[in-house]
Amino acid sequence: MMRLITTLYCALLTLFVCAGELSHARGGKWDMVSLQGVDYVKMRDVCSFYRFAPCKGREGCLSYGAGNRVISVRPNRQDFYVNNFRYVLSYPVVSQGGDLLISAIDMKKLVDPVLRPRFSTESGIVKTVVIDPGHGGHDAGAVSAWVREKDCNLAVAHKLRKKLESLGYKVVMTREDDRFLTLQQRVNIANQVPNSIFISIHHNSGRSAATGIETFTLAPQGTTSPFARTRRYAELAGNNQDSENIALATSVHSRAIRNTGAIDRGIQRARFSVLCTIKRPAILFEGGFVSNAQEGRRIASEEYQDKLAKSICDGVVSYSAVIGRQQIRPTNKSSIGAARRGSGIRATSKSSTRLRSRGNYSGSSRM
Ligand SMILES: [Zn+2]
Repeated sequence: MMRLITTLYCALLTLFVCAGELSHARGGKWDMVSLQGVDYVKMRDVCSFYRFAPCKGREGCLSYGAGNRVISVRPNRQDFYVNNFRYVLSYPVVSQGGDLLISAIDMKKLVDPVLRPRFSTESGIVKTVVIDPGHGGHDAGAVSAWVREKDCNLAVAHKLRKKLESLGYKVVMTREDDRFLTLQQRVNIANQVPNSIFISIHHNSGRSAATGIETFTLAPQGTTSPFARTRRYAELAGNNQDSENIALATSVHSRAIRNTGAIDRGIQRARFSVLCTIKRPAILFEGGFVSNAQEGRRIASEEYQDKLAKSICDGVVSYSAVIGRQQIRPTNKSSIGAARRGSGIRATSKSSTRLRSRGNYSGSSRM
């Protein structure tokens, strides 16, 4: 069985390093289509690989799935949903000649690591979490009548630290009080910590109606950032943690959306300074809009800050378990139990499909 699984995964990897038609382990063909310099694969091949069939899913989308996993897309849009959680693809889905096409880079760097995180990496154990409360000192970040961003970033960070330490993680804070650090100083701190992941905590500002949570990971090599659409970015490198980045983002973001009930603004790509030169799995988490009257008040509250901290903490536990094969010995059993249940991690079931048999946190509607 394990040999078969390995073969299947190798076949998928082969798809992305070669051009043209390639065989995969089920004996079918992946037809590569090149459009304006971007390689695409056909959704029907994707469905065949994951054993997905067309199904009822998100309204207004075309949906495919099996068991409790459903993916949804819309032609000409960059929205991509897994079990109703939103991601932003690097390239729009294309409808051509009766086929729906999704870019090969999105398949490799987003879809597969999310659907099958355990196949994507053999990354090491997570021993330390580097928490980066954004802004500080003379840099207040976003400011509104209800809260200053630098303050709520720090408040969530302290709560998160407490929760992680109670579970046995080491924590390094880039700042513990109201002081200014450059972005490079934050990155330098993180890059010195082995076996770590990096979580930068921010809150948003925008037009008064804007609300919701969004999580950023570094745009993979060869893709543009939605925030700076220039060809120059296509030449910039991603980093060696692309798969881990998206897995960590998925684990944290999905819990934050579920626990807070906030609008899901999605897991998005960016080339923010703190994400570009980091050498560890990293995300930048935006916990809501301080500029919105209702959300700004919530963000200022201990209750909401605690929900965010718990969501990030549970996300880290799940990520550690799936990616790092880590068994944390919690001091608080109910907390880790809840985190595991929330992750959808379960013992191998005889009824599981082969692709799911090694555990898959995104295979659950409770991703
Ligand atoms: Zn910020």
